Amino acid sequence: MDFDLTAEQDQIRKLARDFCTAEVAPGARELDRTEGYPHELLPKLFEVGFLGAPIPTEYGGMGLDYLSYGLIVEELGRADASIRSMVSVNVGLVALTILRWGSAAQKAEWLPRLASDGLGAFGLTEPGAGSDPSSMTTGASRDGEDWILNGAKMWITNGSTGIVTIVFARTDLGEGDRQAAGERGSTGITAFLVPQDEQGYTGTPLKGKLGLRAGDTAEVALRDVRVPDANRLGDVGGGLKIALNALDSGRYSLAAGCTGISQACLDQAVRYADERIQFGRKISSFQLVQQLISEIYLDLEASRALYWKVAWKHDKGERHTIESSVAKTFCSEAAVRSADRAVQVHGGYGYSDEYPVGRYLRDARVTTLYEGTSQIQRLLLGRHLTGENAFT
Ligand SMILES: Cc1cc2nc3c(=O)[nH]c(=O)nc-3n(C[C@H](O)[C@H](O)[C@H](O)COP(=O)(O)OP(=O)(O)OC[C@H]3O[C@@H](n4cnc5c(N)ncnc54)[C@H](O)[C@@H]3O)c2cc1C
Repeated sequence: MDFDLTAEQDQIRKLARDFCTAEVAPGARELDRTEGYPHELLPKLFEVGFLGAPIPTEYGGMGLDYLSYGLIVEELGRADASIRSMVSVNVGLVALTILRWGSAAQKAEWLPRLASDGLGAFGLTEPGAGSDPSSMTTGASRDGEDWILNGAKMWITNGSTGIVTIVFARTDLGEGDRQAAGERGSTGITAFLVPQDEQGYTGTPLKGKLGLRAGDTAEVALRDVRVPDANRLGDVGGGLKIALNALDSGRYSLAAGCTGISQACLDQAVRYADERIQFGRKISSFQLVQQLISEIYLDLEASRALYWKVAWKHDKGERHTIESSVAKTFCSEAAVRSADRAVQVHGGYGYSDEYPVGRYLRDARVTTLYEGTSQIQRLLLGRHLTGENAFT
C-alpha cells in the first residue's frame, strides 16, 4: 500500500483545507447553537464542486478518485461534522448509488443536479426498522405504469430540504398485509427515486438532536406518492442489495469524516494545552496531559490508515465491504474517544461551547449509531470471520 499522495491529491487536500478553514469552520458554532441550516454555505459547496467530487465530469462532477473524495470529506469533518454528514449522504449514499445502479436516463436527470444544485437523501430507516431494514413496512404497489408508495421513514438526512430521496419499499405486499412485512424478509424490497416535491411526500425536520444539529434530519411521510416505473432504481426485489452496496461507500465517507473529527480534536487539544497555565506551567508540560494528546494521535493515525486502505482497494476496482465496515467501526469509536479526551484536556472549559470540543463529542456520538451501529458492525465482522450468522 502506497501512502504517498499524488501531486493532484495533495492539491485537492489543500483546496479542501483552505475552503473549510475559510468557509465552513467559522460558522459551525452558530449553526450548532441555533440548529440552523447552512443556506449561505451550500451554494459555495456546490460551486467548489465537493458535492460531485467522485462523480464523472460527463455528469457535472469533479471526476476525482476515491481517495481525493475521502480527503475532502476528512477536511469537512474536521471543520463541521454536520456539513460533512450532508455531503456524505448526497455523494456516498445517493449520487454514487445512482451512478452504479441507475439507468442512463436516471443518471442524466439526477447526477448533474446532485453535483450542482440540490441534495439527495437515502430513505432506508423506518420508525420500527433500523438495524433490521428487512422488517420495513413501507410499501409500493403497482398501478399500471406507476407505483404508489405509502409508509414512513425516520432519521433521513437531507430528507426535507433535498431534491430527491432514494426510498426503499416493499413490493411483495398488497396494501392489506403491510403489517406482515416483518415475516417476509429482504427479497421483496425495491428502491425508487422519489422527487421530494412529489405530491404526498412530506419531510418534517427533527429538532433537539444531541449533535449534528446543523442541517436537515427528517421524518418522512409517504402518502399515496405516485412515481412512474422509470423511477425504479435497479430490479424489482433488488433494493436491499442496492442499500447494502450503498453503505460500502457511505461507511467509507463516514470513516473519513470521523478521521477529520479526530484531527480537529488533536489540533484543539494541542493548542489549548499550550495556552493553559496551571501550577505555573503550561499544562502541555504535564505527562498525563501529554498522554491524553498522544492517545488522540494514535487513534488519528490508525483511522487515517484504515480509510486510506478502503480508498486504495476501491481505486484498484476491488470490493471493500469488510474494509469499509472495519474503517467505519474503528474511526467512529476513535472519534468518540478523541473528542472525550479533548474535552478532558480542556477541563471545565471543554464543557461549554466557548471551545469546539464539546461539539466534537456530541457530533461524533452519532457515528457509532448510524450506517450500522457498532454492534451490527461486529456481527457483520463476526459472520465474515466465523461463517456463523448471528442475525438469525
Ligand atoms: C442523525 C441521524 C441521521 C441518520 N441518517 C439516516 C439517513 O440518512 N438514512 C437512513 O436510512 N437512516 C438514517 N439514520 C438512521 C440510522 O441508520 C439508525 O438509527 C441506525 O441504523 C440504528 O437503528 P435504530 O435507531 O432503529 O436502532 P435499533 O436498531 O433499534 O438498535 C437499538 C440498539 O439495539 C442494538 N441492536 C439491534 N439489533 C441488534 C442485534 N442483532 N444484536 C445486538 N445488538 C443489536 C443496536 O446496536 C442498538 O444499540 C440516521 C440516524 C441519525 C441519528
